[in-house]
Amino acid sequence: MTKVPFLDLKRMNAPYRDILEDAAKSVVESGWFIRGLYCEHFEHAFAEYIGVKYAVGVGNGLDALTLMLRASMELGRLHEGDEILVPSNTFIATVLAVSAAGLKPVLVEPSVNTYDMDPKCLKNACGARTRGILVVHLYGRLCAMDEICEFANAHDLLLFEDCAQAHGARMNDGRSAGSFGSASSFSFYPTKNLGALGDAGMVVTNDADVAEVVRALGNYGSEQKYVNRFKGVNSRLDEMQAALLLAKLPDLEASNERRREVAVRYCREIKNPKVLLPELPAVPSEHVWHVFVIRLKSEVARDDLQKFLRERGIETLIHYPIPPHLQEAYAHEFCGEYPVAESMAKTILSIPMGPVMTDDEVSKVIGAINEF
Ligand SMILES: *Cc1c(COP(=O)(O)O)cnc(C)c1O
Repeated sequence: MTKVPFLDLKRMNAPYRDILEDAAKSVVESGWFIRGLYCEHFEHAFAEYIGVKYAVGVGNGLDALTLMLRASMELGRLHEGDEILVPSNTFIATVLAVSAAGLKPVLVEPSVNTYDMDPKCLKNACGARTRGILVVHLYGRLCAMDEICEFANAHDLLLFEDCAQAHGARMNDGRSAGSFGSASSFSFYPTKNLGALGDAGMVVTNDADVAEVVRALGNYGSEQKYVNRFKGVNSRLDEMQAALLLAKLPDLEASNERRREVAVRYCREIKNPKVLLPELPAVPSEHVWHVFVIRLKSEVARDDLQKFLRERGIETLIHYPIPPHLQEAYAHEFCGEYPVAESMAKTILSIPMGPVMTDDEVSKVIGAINEF
């Protein structure tokens, strides 16, 4: 039986083998391993790609989130205990970062059509202590940024973006995920649309002060060696990962485009009354299909389909099976009710998606789901 992996990381990196080896060799020969020329080049290239002025490489996506929030606090724009609106159906890192910065996450339900934060739910969640919104372009789909920016402006809230799943998602007018917020974070974890061969992350911003403070915070809070302006951490982008990411960045557009082709085929050709498909955005560039998430009518149907596909060699995952408010780590923290996030967690299923899927593999997934 030929298997269809959820995401084939070996196949994804194989075309870059020579260029990655060359990049690694140059780093070894340079004798400089952290925050050197490759880091600087990649920061410039990535800032230009996103359409922002500054980019600061950090150790991973969670640190990027935490440090951009902490920078806003060090700059006096946020204070301990301030409330930040975050989606109720996100990956735990978004919520952990808000907590780690000493801020209070307040959950906002998603729209079942887009899986992204529902702008209509912002009003109810926004209270006297709300100071910011941290949107997540979940699964690669750009949030309803016009409405969210308008709400943030009207209520004087700082806007942040978690772009860990949305490298290159952009509106018709060219504005990209990461360019709307006062600061935005990216992860280059190996499975992301732009993936390193290890951990890596980035904060992007148009604000020189934010960039400067994030850079210092990631380096023990220091701008000048052995002089500490902040109580910082060690979270820096190393030269090896920066060189590898710099080598892969030029292909990101083409690999996102291939994901879109796969998504369009899934949406057109999966025809099973038990399966609810995600909505294709009217503007295709707004989605980079980090994962392709379908929904089933019930938890039983979901588990049955997952087993049915597994028996046919098709690997699936659930993003995510337990929403943040039901995690043990957050017991007693959230008192509201989040029925949309809970029902999604029970009925969603992520099917294989990636830039290196063959047409045959896509057909196999479609055939199996239609047979279910
Ligand atoms: C992957 C991810 C993160 C965390 O990134 P790491 O590099 O793994 O720390 C944060 N938010 C979202 C939405 C993610 O998908």
